[in-house]
Amino acid sequence: MSDLIVVERKLNKVKVAVCSIIFVLIILIIVGLCIFFHNKNKENPQEEIVNEVEEIEEQPQQEVVETEENTKNPVLTEEGKQNVKNIYHLEGKNAYITFDDGPSKTVTPLILEFLKQNNIPATFFLLGSRVELYPEIVKQEYDEGHYIANHGYSHVYSSIYQNSDTVIEEFEKTENAIKNALQNPDYNSHLFRFPGGSVGGKYQNIKQEAIAKLEEKNIAYVDWNALTNDSVGSPTKEKMMQDLKATVGQKSNVVILMHDAGDKILTYELLPEIIDFLSSQGYTFKNFYNIIK
Ligand SMILES: [Zn+2]
Repeated sequence: MSDLIVVERKLNKVKVAVCSIIFVLIILIIVGLCIFFHNKNKENPQEEIVNEVEEIEEQPQQEVVETEENTKNPVLTEEGKQNVKNIYHLEGKNAYITFDDGPSKTVTPLILEFLKQNNIPATFFLLGSRVELYPEIVKQEYDEGHYIANHGYSHVYSSIYQNSDTVIEEFEKTENAIKNALQNPDYNSHLFRFPGGSVGGKYQNIKQEAIAKLEEKNIAYVDWNALTNDSVGSPTKEKMMQDLKATVGQKSNVVILMHDAGDKILTYELLPEIIDFLSSQGYTFKNFYNIIK
């Protein structure tokens, strides 16, 4: 019997030892798992911090790019204002090619390609409603060195000419659309062209009031003194060229009105002939960056 008791006691000791080992192993596994998960949880915040640091480091680089673009932000000085008013009488023989009512998806890219190939600077008087449709074309005009100016938002006379305040409202709505398109919150065109021109018509008094309000806001405006009549009736290329030559005449400085709306394909097709004619007459091509620095 005593042998049995001894064996039983030994067995009990073995059991206790095995249980202890298993217990210790379980504790070790639990501790190990705890350490593993603790470290794993630590990794994510580290990644987040790295990302934040990267984002913070990227921001100054973006600001540098914007600063470079800002060098193309027009600044209207007193001298600039006088030069816009006296544009037809400035020194030299200069041609300012201007396009109104764009951008359009069909005609504007063709015109831009031609201007680029021939190194001709132009000025685009944009409609805010169309800027919102094709912001990428506005950005292209700007990036390729053309002057981005303002032609109001709607081009609906009964809307923009309700009173002088609605003229200013359309101007500002269009400026905001241009800022968004250029991704440049500091852009200010400082240059407006009245739909239908600043002179005459039944809205004459409202236009005069609006001119005073624009001046208070340091905004110049400009009309034109030469044109192809590309937006009148159904013109032929021959008639457009004839009207251009007649209105250019012997003028020393010409601001030429044309349009790059979607139906103005003839204007694009006639551009080589227009540019050849003006070159042969000794004109230098300029845009409003030459006046509004
Ligand atoms: Zn227009």
